[in-house]
Amino acid sequence: MSKQNNFEIIKEKIQVINFKIDFLYKKEGIKNFLTSFDPLNRPTKHLLPCNNCGKVPMLKYNGKIYIAACNCREFSLSRRKSISVPQYNKSPMSITIPYWIIPAFNIPTPEEMEPLILYEKIKMLRKYFELKTELAILRRKLKYTTTNLRHINRLKAFTVWAMYLQGEVKRTIKSRSPRNFETFQSGTI
Ligand SMILES: [Zn+2]
Repeated sequence: MSKQNNFEIIKEKIQVINFKIDFLYKKEGIKNFLTSFDPLNRPTKHLLPCNNCGKVPMLKYNGKIYIAACNCREFSLSRRKSISVPQYNKSPMSITIPYWIIPAFNIPTPEEMEPLILYEKIKMLRKYFELKTELAILRRKLKYTTTNLRHINRLKAFTVWAMYLQGEVKRTIKSRSPRNFETFQSGTI
């Protein structure tokens, strides 16, 4: 395939992704979830304490990946600190906090929004960041923007924060009414 054709295909993909992102942002209300949170700015301040010893772990880099180490155990995370933090909070090692106080997003309380409805919104929120990441990578390929790696890393970290939030909302729904969640998942509600 010629280079020119390849460029045209990427441009078309960008158009489609832009359309989807715009739809999620406006029609699905994703903009209401966004704040000025920066997952790359001193990420370790958001680490939660260990649910066994109560210590906030240290993040150690072993040359390949980050490892969370507290008084009682170690837990392998990822290559990036900004991704390792929500990964740790999401893991069975950390304490759990009410989902509506998880940083990174502006999240309605259960009184403000039914958790089952919120769960569907969070899936869209995650999709939004996945699409934004895809878009940034395609734009970088085309080299006609100044899209930098820092921007891509920020979007990747936001995706993991959204996954963490998604898991916590699911856990809350299950603990409140396990049967409802199963019925909901099978699409009968
Ligand atoms: Zn511990």
